[in-house]
Amino acid sequence: MRILLTNDDGYLSAGISLLRSALREKGHRVLVVAPDKERSAVSKALTLHRPLRMRKIGEDFYITDGTPNDCIYLALGVLEEGYPDLVVSGINLGANLGDDVIYSGTVGAAILATHFRIPSIAFSFAGKEVESLSPVAEKAAELVDLLSRKPLPDVTLNINFPSPPWKGIRVTKMGRKKYRPEIITREDPRGEKYYWIGVGSPVATPDSETDIKAVGEGFISVTPIHSDMTSYQHLEELRSIFHEIS
Ligand SMILES: [Mg+2]
Repeated sequence: MRILLTNDDGYLSAGISLLRSALREKGHRVLVVAPDKERSAVSKALTLHRPLRMRKIGEDFYITDGTPNDCIYLALGVLEEGYPDLVVSGINLGANLGDDVIYSGTVGAAILATHFRIPSIAFSFAGKEVESLSPVAEKAAELVDLLSRKPLPDVTLNINFPSPPWKGIRVTKMGRKKYRPEIITREDPRGEKYYWIGVGSPVATPDSETDIKAVGEGFISVTPIHSDMTSYQHLEELRSIFHEIS
């Protein structure tokens, strides 16, 4: 397969280089277009108010000073002749579970691919230990091969790995996390205030079928996500409200 690979942790991240190697070992042609520095939590941001630069640093390996979504646009618009068979994003160092999906640049880049009807997968590692990244990359490449048997062009698969060994794979729904970000307020050396948004301690809503629960119990979580954000369950209710007042 022809695979386009990006991430939001930047091209120097062990997550993207191990995944690139694992996919190439399986015989895939892997084109990497990745940000030149960490761009975590940029979601689906596009750079529209300044020019972008792209530099080749290796065989089928490019870096840009843009966001993960910029990388996808440049790859499809400048580098690729025809669309790739699959867009892969990651492996992100850190989980992308529940409400994290809204902020994640890793998942954002994968979701963009579905706008072009290209199958896409976002991989994230919820563990901390660096030595587990190699087995995660191997497993991710295995899952790419498995999923390529039945490509799903209208959906992004958000796949999260806990630390190995894994108990199995669960197909899950996106959970909910209640975030109350800690805003740290300090003073710089010139006496000016600055603010730093922290993560706080998010609380997961208890639900047995979620990605959060699956990863918490040692399972690899696979969540299908689509980019149609319509709340279908509210359509009729809203139509009746607007019908009443019009
Ligand atoms: Mg990241």
